[in-house]
Amino acid sequence: MLQSFKIVADDKVDDREINRCSFPFLNMNKEVATQVVCIVGTGDFGCSFGKRLLRSGVAVVFGSRNPRQISNRLPEEAQVLSVKQAVAACDIVVLAVRQQHQAALEGELSSVINGKILVDVSNTDKRPAQNSIPNTSELQMLFPQTHIVKAFNMISAWSLQAGLDDACKKVFVCADNVNARRKVMELAWIMGLEAIDKGSLANAKELEEYTHQFFPQWRIPMRVTLGLLFVFYIYTIIQDVLFSYFKHGSDRSFRLAISLPNKAIPSVALVLLSLVYLPGTLAAYIQLHRGTKYSTFPLWLNNWLLVRKQLGLAMFGCAGVHVLISLALPLRVYVYWKWVLSIKHQIDKNWTITFTNIDFWQRDLYLIFGILGFSIVVLLAITSLPSVVNSLSWKEFHFVQSKLGWLSLLLCTAHTICYGGSRFLRSESYHWGIPPLYIPALMLPCTTIFLKLPLLLPFLNRELQMIRQGQTRSRPGVEIEMFYA
Ligand code: NAP
Repeated sequence: MLQSFKIVADDKVDDREINRCSFPFLNMNKEVATQVVCIVGTGDFGCSFGKRLLRSGVAVVFGSRNPRQISNRLPEEAQVLSVKQAVAACDIVVLAVRQQHQAALEGELSSVINGKILVDVSNTDKRPAQNSIPNTSELQMLFPQTHIVKAFNMISAWSLQAGLDDACKKVFVCADNVNARRKVMELAWIMGLEAIDKGSLANAKELEEYTHQFFPQWRIPMRVTLGLLFVFYIYTIIQDVLFSYFKHGSDRSFRLAISLPNKAIPSVALVLLSLVYLPGTLAAYIQLHRGTKYSTFPLWLNNWLLVRKQLGLAMFGCAGVHVLISLALPLRVYVYWKWVLSIKHQIDKNWTITFTNIDFWQRDLYLIFGILGFSIVVLLAITSLPSVVNSLSWKEFHFVQSKLGWLSLLLCTAHTICYGGSRFLRSESYHWGIPPLYIPALMLPCTTIFLKLPLLLPFLNRELQMIRQGQTRSRPGVEIEMFYA
C-alpha cells in the first residue's frame, strides 16, 4: 500500500527552511527525512503537523478511525489508513489524540507498535495536580515496548500551519532512549523548528505543566503594582476629593478621572523603581557582613532579586502612562477654566502674579529631571529585551542596567522633589494632617539612595568588589551556608 507513496524526502527538504535556524545536525544521515511518519488522529494538531511535515518534504501517513471519510482538511498527497495499518507501516508514530482517548487505542495497536518511536504531543486540559503522573508515564504503561518521546506539545496547531516566517519555534524533546530522542529532534529541525534536548522522560511533567503556566514571574510584581496603585489612589481620594467635600462642601469628584491617577501612577512608578534597586543594595550589605558571596540570601530577598526585571517593566508601564496623561493635561477644560479665572482675578485685583527666578528654576528642573529620567527608563526597558541583552557584553549590560539605572532613580526622585518644592513646609498642604502623596512616595526612593551612598565609599566599594570577585573574608561568628561544597 505504501508503495504508492510519493516519497519526496532527502533532496526535496527545503534548505531555506532548515537554514533559518542554525542547523545542529550537519552530519545528519537524513535517515529521518526519508522515513514515512505516521500521524494517529486527524484532528487540529494531526492535520497541521502532517501539513508541516509534507511541506518539509517528509512523507506522511495518517491513521484514522474512519479512513474512508477523509476530511477535506487533510492534504491531498497524504494517505489515510486505518490506525493499525498506518502504525504498522512506519517507525515513527506521532500520537495526535487527546490523552483521555489514548487508552482506547491499546487493543488495536499493541500488536504492531512494539519497538517503534511513539511521539507523545499531548497536554492535559486542566493543570496537572502536583503528585499526578505525566501523560507519558501512562502511555508507557499502555505501550511498554515502545520508545516514548515527549515533544511538540508546546507548539500550537495554528503556529505549525503559519508558514516559514514562523519557523525557529522552540520544540523541547525528552526521551529515555537517546536514539529515539535524536531522531525526533532531527524531525523537528527538518520541519524548520528549533529542537532543544530536554534529556530524559523525567522532564516530561515539566513540559506538560509549562503549557498551563500563566505569567508565573509576573505574579508578585503585578500584585505589588496593583496593590500600590490601589492604596495610592485611595490616598489621593481621601487627601483631595473627600477633604474638599467634607471641609469646604465643594464637589471635586471630576478629579478622579485624570488628576488623581496622574498623582497615583507616577508615585507608584517611583516606588517600583526603588524596589528594583533596593534588593541589590540589601544583598551588598549581606555580602559585606558575611564576607563572602558564596552564601545563600534569605528566600524573600532571593525571590525579590529574581523579579527585578518585571518590577522595572511595570515601572516603565506606569511612567509611560504618566507621560501620556501629562501631555494630555493642557487639553482639559478645567485647565482652560483655571487659566481664564487666574487672568480675571488679576484684572479684578489689578495685580500680576509675580514669578521669582527660583520658581522658574524649580519648574524647569522638574521638567528636565522628569524627561531625562524617563528617557533612561526607556533605555532600561529596551536593554531588558532578550534580543538586545544577547547583543551586549556583560560590561555594557551592567553599565546600562546598574549605572544608568541608578541615575534614573536619582533623576526621578529629583523630579518628584522639584514637583513638591517647598509645599511640604506649608500647613495647607496637609489635609486632615495627611501629607500630599508625593511625600510618602519619596520615602522608599530616598531610603534606597541613602543606603547606597555608604557603598560608594572607596574602602567599602573595594571590599565589595573583592567579595564579588570570589574572595572570602573569614569573620568570627558568621556561619557560611555554601551554595556548593
Ligand atoms: P482533536 O482536534 O480533538 O483531534 C483528536 C483526534 O484524535 C480526532 O480527530 C480523532 O481523529 C482522533 N481520535 C482517536 N481516538 C479518538 C476517540 N476515542 N475520540 C475522539 N477522537 C479520537 O484534538 P487536537 O487538538 O488535534 O489535539 C490532539 C493532541 O495534540 C492532544 O493530545 C493535544 O493535547 C495535543 N496538542 C494539541 C495542540 C493544538 O494546538 N491543538 C497543541 C499541542 C498539543 P480520527 O477521527 O481521524 O480518528
